[in-house]
Amino acid sequence: MSDLFAIFGHPVAHSRSPLMYNHLFTSLHVKACYTRIDLPDGNMLKERFWDLSLRGANVTVPHKEAAFVACDEVRGFAQKIGVVNTIIREADRLIGYNTDADGFWYALRHLKECKRILIIGAGGTAKSLSVRLSQEGCDITVLNRSTARLDFFKDAGFACFDWNSFTPSTYDLIINTTSAGLTDTEYPAPLTLLEPTLSRAGYCIDVIYGKETPFLKRAKEMHKPLMNGSEMLLAQGVLAAELFTAHRFERSVIEPIMRESFAF
Ligand code: NDP
Repeated sequence: MSDLFAIFGHPVAHSRSPLMYNHLFTSLHVKACYTRIDLPDGNMLKERFWDLSLRGANVTVPHKEAAFVACDEVRGFAQKIGVVNTIIREADRLIGYNTDADGFWYALRHLKECKRILIIGAGGTAKSLSVRLSQEGCDITVLNRSTARLDFFKDAGFACFDWNSFTPSTYDLIINTTSAGLTDTEYPAPLTLLEPTLSRAGYCIDVIYGKETPFLKRAKEMHKPLMNGSEMLLAQGVLAAELFTAHRFERSVIEPIMRESFAF
């Protein structure tokens, strides 16, 4: 019998994960199939996982923190930040992992000289990136629309601002981790803050992939070197695929196959 895997999110129609994993499973002759589940209420994640008899799952916007709560046990980096993006069923228990942090760091390895980093957004993706980059000696500033989610970052010792308290400054790298631009045409911060910050920035990244967001469009117009979220998607996916296939395949085998799916 085939194993069933899924990605939970809301929205989730944009996700390239089914293409990536199904191409991998077919290429490696793994008896498995991967689908996407639109889940408006993150509190229903556990129930839906068991209803669908899943073998494993990925979790995306906005349920990565709810996934942490849904798991019976959480291992590794996910424990440190309270954010789960990969779930594996072990017997009758759900085990949570975070592959974003190491995956994103791998995807950004060519930017090691960037030390002053502005992260826009304060959700699950911002937590993974900020803590992992801080472990590598980066100086992290977090800018979010609202203050409610900034406590985690303040406790971690990062400089934190909302739109009212932020003053544009100079950063080697700006990373948009908000969902602004995912299904709308919004900027992650007002242009009065964004433009002076972008104009002084070294490099710009948007974790959203598959489209040119207003953030990246503006950075491009300002002739900034930039990158979208495709390499991050791939890198976290390779680590999740290792877990889904119980480490039967090397990363060096998984990565080129998953990368092929980006041409589809
Ligand atoms: P969360 O829901 O946990 O956090 C969303 C964040 O975006 C919050 O800080 C929220 O601010 C902010 N936000 C939402 N809408 C706006 C807006 N219109 N203007 C400004 N800020 C806004 O989401 P995740 O961290 O899970 O995901 C964030 C993004 O990262 C998504 O677009 C997702 O697709 C992408 N992603 C990409 C991955 C990849 O592999 N490339 C992997 C994972 C995620 P507030 O606190 O004020 O509500």
